[in-house]
Amino acid sequence: MTDVLSSAPATTATDAASGSTNRKIVTPIPGPRSIELHDRRVKVVSEGVSELFPIYIDHAHDALMVDVDGNQFIDFTGGIGVTTVGHTNDAVVDAVREQVGKLTHTLFGLVGYESYIRAAELLAEHTPGDFPKKSVFVNSGAEALENAVKIARKFTGRTEVAVLHHGYHGRTHLTASMNYNMHPYGTGFGPLAGSVHHAPNSHPSVDGLTGEQAAKATITHLEKRVGAEQIACLVVEPIQGEGGFIVPADGYLNALVDWCEQHGIVYVSDEVQSGMMRTGKYFASEHFGITPHLTTSAKGIGGGLPIAAVTGRADIMDASHSGGLGGTFGGNPVAAAALVAVFDQVEKKGLLAEAQRIESVMRPRLEAIVERFDVVVDARGKGAMLAIELNDPETGEPAPAVGKAIQQFALHQGVLFLTAGTFGNVLRFLPSVVITDEQLHEGLDVLEAALEEATGHAAAQA
Ligand code: PMP
Repeated sequence: MTDVLSSAPATTATDAASGSTNRKIVTPIPGPRSIELHDRRVKVVSEGVSELFPIYIDHAHDALMVDVDGNQFIDFTGGIGVTTVGHTNDAVVDAVREQVGKLTHTLFGLVGYESYIRAAELLAEHTPGDFPKKSVFVNSGAEALENAVKIARKFTGRTEVAVLHHGYHGRTHLTASMNYNMHPYGTGFGPLAGSVHHAPNSHPSVDGLTGEQAAKATITHLEKRVGAEQIACLVVEPIQGEGGFIVPADGYLNALVDWCEQHGIVYVSDEVQSGMMRTGKYFASEHFGITPHLTTSAKGIGGGLPIAAVTGRADIMDASHSGGLGGTFGGNPVAAAALVAVFDQVEKKGLLAEAQRIESVMRPRLEAIVERFDVVVDARGKGAMLAIELNDPETGEPAPAVGKAIQQFALHQGVLFLTAGTFGNVLRFLPSVVITDEQLHEGLDVLEAALEEATGHAAAQA
C-alpha cells in the first residue's frame, strides 16, 4: 500500500548511496525545503524543543524516511523506539483508518468502547506475570510513570520512590525528578519533586560487579538512606535506555525483585523503551526471568500513535478509588485500535524473531567494530536495542564528540543514528524490526566509514 520508494519525488542527482536503492541524497543536507521549514519553525516553536537533525520528513514506510526535499534515509532511530513494527505499517494504518471513520473520542471514563478493553486484554496477556492483570491507558511514557507511582503510593500507603543511577523516566515534574540526569532535564525547572531517591545501578562493563554485588550496593544504599519500609516503589528499566543501553549483570534484577517482595515495595518495570518486542521478547523483563508487579509501556505499543499504559497485578491496579486514574485522551479509540493492530502484527508476522534477526546481523559486525576501533569499547544490548560505547583510547574518558561526528557523517550519507548515555558517548540503534538485512548492512557500512573518518583509520585496514 504505502510505498515510499514509488511515492518519493523523482530525482536525477547522483545517488550518494553508491548504487543503493534505499538511501538517496539528492540535495545538500539540509535541503532547501527543510531550510524553509526551519526558518518558519524558529519563529513559532519553542526553543525548549530540541532539533537534533536539520531535516523535515514528508513520509516514511518501514525503515525508510523521505524528507521534504526527496532525500531518503535509513532510519536506525525508530523515533526513539516507537516505530518498531515499521513506519506506516500497513495493518496499523488500515486499523487507524477504519477506526477514524467510526469513532475518534468519547473519553473512556465517561462512555466505553471495545478497543480500550481489547488493548488491556492484550497487555494482560503479554506482560510478564502469571496472575490477573489490569491496565490504565494514558498518553505518554512519562504519564505512565506518574501513574505507576501514584498507584504504588496508594497501594502501599507509603510515599518514597526509589530509582536508579542512569535511569530515565520522562520530562514531567515528577519524572524529571526521577531521571538520573537532573541536568539537563530538570535544569531551571525546579524545585523538583521530593521523596525521590537515586541508588547505584548495575553497569557490569564499568563497575565490574556481579549482579549479586551490584544488588547489594543498591539495596544497602536504599536501606540506609531511605529505609525499605518507607519505599512505595522501586522503578527500574530492565535495560536502561537513555542511560546508554545498560544491560544489568545476571541476577541483579532478580535480587531487586526479591527484596521488593520481602519489604512490600512495588517493583515497577519501566519498559517504555525496552518493551513491545524491541529486545526479541514482548517485554525485556522476560530475558531476566523477573516478574514485576507493574509494567509501564508506551512508544512501540502504538505503532506510531500516542498511547501508554500501566499494567500489573490486579489488586495493585485496583488500589485507586474510581476516578483517581485516567484523563481526557488516555486510551483514545484510534490509538487503542493501533495498539491492537500492533499486537496482531507481532503474532502474524513473527516479529519477535525479526528482532532476534537484527541482533544476529548487527552484533557480529558491532563486535568486529569494537575489535577494529580503539575508540569503540563495548557493544551491547538485545534484539533490536543495540549500542556501542565510545571512549577516548588515550584517556579512557567518554568521547561524545565521536558520536556526534558519526551522526553527522551518517546523516549526509542517508542514515540516521541516535546517541544516548549519561555522557552522550553511546551510539544506539533502535531500527524497526522490519528493516531489511540489506539496510542493516548499509547502515553498518556507513557506521564503519564514519568511524574511519572520525579516527583517521585508512579504509584499506578493513
Ligand atoms: N521511560 C523510559 C524508559 C523512556 O525511554 C522514556 C522516553 N525516552 C520515557 C519513560 C518517557 O516517555 P515519553 O517521552 O513518552 O514521555
